[in-house]
Amino acid sequence: MSTEFVYEALPMRVRFARGALKTVVDELDHLGLDRVLVLSTPEQQDLAEHVAGLLGDRAAGVLAEARMHVPAEVAHRAAEESRRLGADGCLAVGGGSTIGLGKAVALRSGLPVIAVPTTYAGSEMTPIWGLTENGEKRTGRDRRVLPVSVVYDPELTATLPVGLSVTSAVNAMAHAVEALYAPDASPVISLMAEEGTRALVSAIPGIIADPTSADAREIALYGAWLCGACLGATTMSLHHKICHGLGGTLDLPHAPSHTVVLPHVLAYNQAAAPTARAALSRALGGADPATRLWQLTSEWGAPTSLRELGMEYDDIATVVALTLSRPYANPRAVTAEDLTGLLARAWSGEQPQH
Ligand code: NAD
Repeated sequence: MSTEFVYEALPMRVRFARGALKTVVDELDHLGLDRVLVLSTPEQQDLAEHVAGLLGDRAAGVLAEARMHVPAEVAHRAAEESRRLGADGCLAVGGGSTIGLGKAVALRSGLPVIAVPTTYAGSEMTPIWGLTENGEKRTGRDRRVLPVSVVYDPELTATLPVGLSVTSAVNAMAHAVEALYAPDASPVISLMAEEGTRALVSAIPGIIADPTSADAREIALYGAWLCGACLGATTMSLHHKICHGLGGTLDLPHAPSHTVVLPHVLAYNQAAAPTARAALSRALGGADPATRLWQLTSEWGAPTSLRELGMEYDDIATVVALTLSRPYANPRAVTAEDLTGLLARAWSGEQPQH
């Protein structure tokens, strides 16, 4: 066996504790920030106002306009508002959409971002930004958008509905799965990927039984942190390429699409990625992790077909073309025929095939 890798650590500060939100002003002190613009979605405006209350005069204002896939006009407005209010940073409280808005402001203005995640999507751990303009979603990597500080408070996830909790958790697992067979995989990230997956799988039944369970929420958010770090540190493959097309072009919901597609991509790739397969077998329990994940998602009541998410059968050809349009790394070569079969099974909700 030979071990060869390149590992580059991302400079981040993470505070993880039940009730950590109460100490959020300490993060501003630590970072030397005076006045931050608080960002959220309209649905989480109350939480954003609560955070602004905790910050007192260290809150420059609240902008509760974050939306899925970061529309460019919202990013523009948020950047203008931060300038008008004299903010020296943004504090994004919410899921990937809100943290994405903070990143878009950072990309334009260079202002630092503090992230307070309330889902398991993992954007807070990555230097990846996304922006949607004229119906097209562009993404890129830029160190300026990496949050300077992340405050994880599991209590904030207690309100995440069970359905979204499950799909958001599987969305997080997708980062771990693809990090395990990434071209830039490394031992430390693989450890995080396996442990993150294990933690999420162990927490989901507890969340389904009691969405306010402090223990289950804590373990799940811990797993999401690890999986987010995997996304930030490695290059994603076929699964993320497919989901980018499903979300960015067909506008399917982000976390549910990941949940439906992941077992199918894993089934396609796992024979070509034996080390990843072994790690996922340990984390998920079962010699065939793809089939195990497919069974688990349906036991957890998650969507299992792209059809139920609103995709038309004829859109399969569009996603195949988009997925194959630019080269990307994948442990197994991808042909149009294989991809069409994979997407047809994911569309109808059939069992994944190897
Ligand atoms: P989201 O941020 O769009 O949130 C979905 C909905 O749930 C929103 O209405 C939100 O207000 C609500 N919500 C969030 N947390 C809640 C809570 N605790 N209680 C009640 N409601 C809550 O969903 P998401 O899946 O976290 O993020 C998806 C977006 O993030 C996509 O656009 C995706 O591309 C992006 N993303 C980016 C990265 C990255 O590295 N750049 C990583 C993951 C996801």
